[in-house]
Amino acid sequence: VIPLDEARAHVLAACHPRPPVVLPLDDILGCVLAERVVADEPVPPFANTAMDGYAVRAADTSGAPVELDVVGTLAAGAAPSTPVGAGQAIRIMTGAPVPDGADAIVPVEVTAALDGGRRVRIEAAARPGDHVRPAGEDLAPGQEVFPAGTVLGPGHLGVLASVGRAEVRVQPPVRVGVLSTGDELVEAGRPLQPGQIRDSNRHTLVALCRRSGFDAVDLGLARDDPDEIEKLVREGLSRCDALVTSGGVSVGDFDYVKEVLDRVSGGSMRWMQIAIRPAKPFALGVADGKPIFGLPGNPVSSMVSFELLAGPGLRRMAGFPDDRLDRPRLLGVADEPLRRRADGKILFVRVLAEPGPDGRYHVRSSGGQASNLLRSMALANALAVVPDGDGVDAGGDVELMLL
Ligand code: AMP
Ligand code: MG
Repeated sequence: VIPLDEARAHVLAACHPRPPVVLPLDDILGCVLAERVVADEPVPPFANTAMDGYAVRAADTSGAPVELDVVGTLAAGAAPSTPVGAGQAIRIMTGAPVPDGADAIVPVEVTAALDGGRRVRIEAAARPGDHVRPAGEDLAPGQEVFPAGTVLGPGHLGVLASVGRAEVRVQPPVRVGVLSTGDELVEAGRPLQPGQIRDSNRHTLVALCRRSGFDAVDLGLARDDPDEIEKLVREGLSRCDALVTSGGVSVGDFDYVKEVLDRVSGGSMRWMQIAIRPAKPFALGVADGKPIFGLPGNPVSSMVSFELLAGPGLRRMAGFPDDRLDRPRLLGVADEPLRRRADGKILFVRVLAEPGPDGRYHVRSSGGQASNLLRSMALANALAVVPDGDGVDAGGDVELMLL
């Protein structure tokens, strides 16, 4: 039995980022930037108004209320043709360029149109720069937009678009093949025969991959039959960058998963027992340069194993920086005792964590904790990390891994 950190280190040693690719913006949500992006144009590209109102010379408004001549109108998208002279104003809409001569915007709310719009009364004095968004306020030419290694969210894609980038160099998305194994398993929608259960792991694991930003390929369900397992594993290796299997990695199974993965991986599989509960058994190997994660069959174990081991490995392959490989952790407070027995293992308790009036997360168990009870995992939004010992008292601090 090895510590979790040791198993995680084996995983990270088997997972490497792949060569970068150039992809269009709309294909790279969740990808990691593989270049340092520098702005070659200012954002915004020109000084423009943040408000609907009047472009004025601030000095003209110092004796407000004052009346100015309105010499034009500017909508967003229009290029200014007339400058604002002394005693003049130009009606202007949000986003329109600030015309020459003007140095401030007076919001329409503090003005009154006169003479059918040919003149305007300014009720309050403006200071130079009021409601003007200067050119390059967000980004100046030559300024770093984002460094390599940035994980791209929706806002990042918008910023890249705003500096005129239609495509960027990123770490390629990771394609993960997901395979279930076990003679007892049946697809949802088929009748259950005596002794059979439904295959839930494939659905959770495909979904975990997708929610983590990976492309998931459903490789289906293999009977406990070496030829069938090998066929699907080889198909997965040919189509995917990594494989996630569930079932057949614990001791006392029909050993076909082991036999096949050992053969396909050229003997590189490492069959581990990890000092955690749930998700003790775990296997890892490399075939054709592609990692294979052998997750345990129990539904909760396979999810926890993904969160703790496969997920970080796959994020390493996707080029995530070291401090973004794992789910975030924070300290919460137990609202009920989280009891356990000392057994040398770290216990991961499915909990509901809710913010309390003290600004901290308060946790209670989300249900039964046996590794086959998947509903309590679905209801949980965090795993409480309970170190070896006799547990945590009500009111005690508890480390949370946020799901
Ligand atoms: P194994 O790791 O193959 O020994 O399986 C451990 C437990 O998980 C057994 O009770 C299996 O029936 C169950 N199990 C294995 N694979 C799945 C699956 N894909 N969906 C639901 N339960 C599974
Ligand atoms: Mg099995």
